[in-house]
Amino acid sequence: MSGEDDRIGLDCPYCGVHANMTPQSVPNAARLIETKPKHVGLVYQCDACRAPVFLRFAVKAITSDHVELYRNFVELERPKERFPYSYLPKHTEMLFREALSCYSSNNFNAFASMCRRSAASAFVALGEGGKLRAFEEVLVAQDIAGIDDDSFAPIKIILFEAGEEEYLPLLNRVQAGILLEVMKDMFYQCFVRRGKLSRALKVRRFFVEESNGNLASSA
Ligand SMILES: [Zn+2]
Repeated sequence: MSGEDDRIGLDCPYCGVHANMTPQSVPNAARLIETKPKHVGLVYQCDACRAPVFLRFAVKAITSDHVELYRNFVELERPKERFPYSYLPKHTEMLFREALSCYSSNNFNAFASMCRRSAASAFVALGEGGKLRAFEEVLVAQDIAGIDDDSFAPIKIILFEAGEEEYLPLLNRVQAGILLEVMKDMFYQCFVRRGKLSRALKVRRFFVEESNGNLASSA
């Protein structure tokens, strides 16, 4: 393992901060030279929260006195995507939790399929006209983000296009990232915003009624 800059910048799976990771535990070089594995695991420490972060590297070369690793690595734990799930209908919540879990594990096409199921369940929950309303929210999101129609087409197909023989476009990491933000925004507009607002109004009404009640009883 070469001594040149061993530190890595990464989104920490524990604290969520983009932090420097400092090597904490590295494999024994003599043992690697002896056993010549194809991959090795290293433990880094997050500079922000001190948690241990596990990374796996592919071995580039092992000679009698030297171990060289590729610079890219696999994160064994990815930061979890968060969402205020409690505002979603029960069925949609269950499916969307699994969708985000697929995303966090880098399974982008499984993520796309689960997004489709989550969206379908949300349209049912929204009732008549719900799908059209959701579609309009997504168009607004596309406009705000300034995403061109070609890049956006797969997202629309996945969420809205009905098909007997399902053919879903394959997504790469970038497209999956766009789908993630579009889904969050769509669910936020359709459920979270309404839920938060009606909760807040209910609380206000309660306090108004309370104070009216107190006035009435003290009069
Ligand atoms: Zn951290």
